Amino acid sequence: MSKLRISKVLVLRHLAFLWHLDFDLWISFQKMKFLADRTLGKLAKGLRMLGYDTLYYRGEDIHQLIHLAREEDRVILTRDTKLALRRPKDRIVTITEDLPSRQLKEIIQKATLSLNEEILYTRCLLCNDPIDPIPRKEAEGKVPDFIFMQQKDFYRCSKCGRIYWQGSHLGNMQKKVKELIGNFKESEIKYFI
Ligand SMILES: [Zn+2]
Repeated sequence: MSKLRISKVLVLRHLAFLWHLDFDLWISFQKMKFLADRTLGKLAKGLRMLGYDTLYYRGEDIHQLIHLAREEDRVILTRDTKLALRRPKDRIVTITEDLPSRQLKEIIQKATLSLNEEILYTRCLLCNDPIDPIPRKEAEGKVPDFIFMQQKDFYRCSKCGRIYWQGSHLGNMQKKVKELIGNFKESEIKYFI
């Protein structure tokens, strides 16, 4: 186990070196948490689908947005092009794309996020909480019968109780994520998905 962990770290260090990135900084990107403002609800869901801890702030109070981001050490995502200029000390990523799928690509590129299969589809899209595996029989009667017959593994959000299964993240967003992954070069995919 420890051997595996060491080799993984070595691989990551090597990759960071190849990409001229500071390793510690690069690792911090992998643990990045986000706070999407009221204009970026779909992007928040997309990031949760990729496994990134992302809160969605529906309010309009910029001070509260900044306060929440500072308190929880989150990177603010906004479409407000002036916010980053007004708040140079805060970590703010300005999203310029209109379509959620393009916004997802934009944040992946701007924040240098990796598409890590280990965390892909591990969060509730509604609550942002991690989802946990449940015994199959607990899903019976709570999901459509044909889904229950088809699927082997089920997961539940401990906060809202929503049940997930492989494919339940399907739909436009998952298709977009797949397209996104497809757009990455093979050498990058090999290590990260
Ligand atoms: Zn939930």
